[in-house]
Amino acid sequence: MRSTKPGRIPCINPRCNRTAPADKYEDGDEIICGKCRRSLPSAMNRRFMKHRRAFDRLDRMRKQKKYAGRVHQINRMQWICHRIITEVWADMKSYFREPDRPEGIDNFLDEMGMR
Ligand SMILES: [Zn+2]
Repeated sequence: MRSTKPGRIPCINPRCNRTAPADKYEDGDEIICGKCRRSLPSAMNRRFMKHRRAFDRLDRMRKQKKYAGRVHQINRMQWICHRIITEVWADMKSYFREPDRPEGIDNFLDEMGMR
């Protein structure tokens, strides 16, 4: 178990030493730093970013009058996005836990459509 400075949250990659200020997050939140996120297989990263953006977009839609009659639908879509984000987050964490993964190979395989 790593020790982290008080008031800081460590990156989910156990081999990364970057942290984020805890006061910007909720209790129990986890973070991934930009460098580790970019090191993920591109398909995993794309899936994560896509659903996180959609989640935020739905948040903004909920506040607009023109979507007032569709709040139920917005909530449902957000719930689905949240489920996928949680799933990809778990994938990302186990990706970093795998020992001695050669860097770059997965990106290469993704780009070649070989995975
Ligand atoms: Zn990191």
